[in-house]
Amino acid sequence: MPLLALRLASPAVLIDLSAVPGLDYIERNDGHVAIGAMTRERTVERSEVVGSLVPLLTEAMPLIGHLAIRNRGTVGGSTAHADPSAEIPAVALALDADIVVTSAPRGERTVPAAEFFQGFFTTALEPDEALVEVRFPVAQPGTGVAFEEATRRHGDFAMVGAAASVRTEDGRIADARIVTIGVSDTPVRCRDAEQELVGSAPSAEAFEQSGSLAAGACDPPSDLHGTTAYRRHLIHVLVRRALEKSTSRSGDK
Ligand SMILES: Cc1cc2nc3c(=O)[nH]c(=O)nc-3n(C[C@H](O)[C@H](O)[C@H](O)COP(=O)(O)OP(=O)(O)OC[C@H]3O[C@@H](n4cnc5c(N)ncnc54)[C@H](O)[C@@H]3O)c2cc1C
Repeated sequence: MPLLALRLASPAVLIDLSAVPGLDYIERNDGHVAIGAMTRERTVERSEVVGSLVPLLTEAMPLIGHLAIRNRGTVGGSTAHADPSAEIPAVALALDADIVVTSAPRGERTVPAAEFFQGFFTTALEPDEALVEVRFPVAQPGTGVAFEEATRRHGDFAMVGAAASVRTEDGRIADARIVTIGVSDTPVRCRDAEQELVGSAPSAEAFEQSGSLAAGACDPPSDLHGTTAYRRHLIHVLVRRALEKSTSRSGDK
């Protein structure tokens, strides 16, 4: 609606997907939780299945706008819209979710999140395709998660943010996922910052170094809300905090 109101989008045709049946569901399947495109953000936020199996998604939901927004906004809409500051695309990227899309002539295909988000409001969706489902992998035992953001006011889109998922095993980090938002034209997976942690024992120094790598890997925009240097500083701090929190919630504790 804001894009229409600001005349940034002028579609010739508008299709109301709420009249299309069978797109509103949350299902546990083999190794993933499948969420239909028209499932409302608030439904995901309150889902016990999501809370126990995809905790990073549950952590992200209250950060999306206000209650009124989450009552209407959908998982498919947020994913297809591909705002680089949005939380659901960040979670999809962090967890290596699969995005299921369909077109009447060609049928269904599955796109990994790493290939789906291609640029500012730009995805791998072809003009004749609709997004039907997002498949979020189930968290492995021992996983802790956190989503940290800096916003000017409650409910605003994040100026920048960081999602983290950490799995610890026998006192060492066995897996680390870090994604930053608001720093580029897509959400950004911080592979170097992740690699820094895997195999090592959790420590303040390791989290600090990882935050520094994530900040160095991003090139955030500068505008009236904050300079590039300020946003980069925030990323450093937020990644470190997200790692501290997710590790403290992980299995070894
Ligand atoms: C005031 C306000 C504050 C917000 N704050 C946040 C925030 O902090 N964080 C956040 O992540 N989001 C935020 N949002 C976005 C919101 O959560 C929704 O994700 C967004 O508005 C999309 O809404 P929708 O699901 O109704 O999709 P629509 O508005 O209907 O669609 C969005 C775009 O996706 C396309 N689309 C929708 N569904 C499909 C589909 N199934 N297949 C193919 N294309 C599709 C549409 O054509 C359109 O281009 C905010 C929105 C508002 C208005």
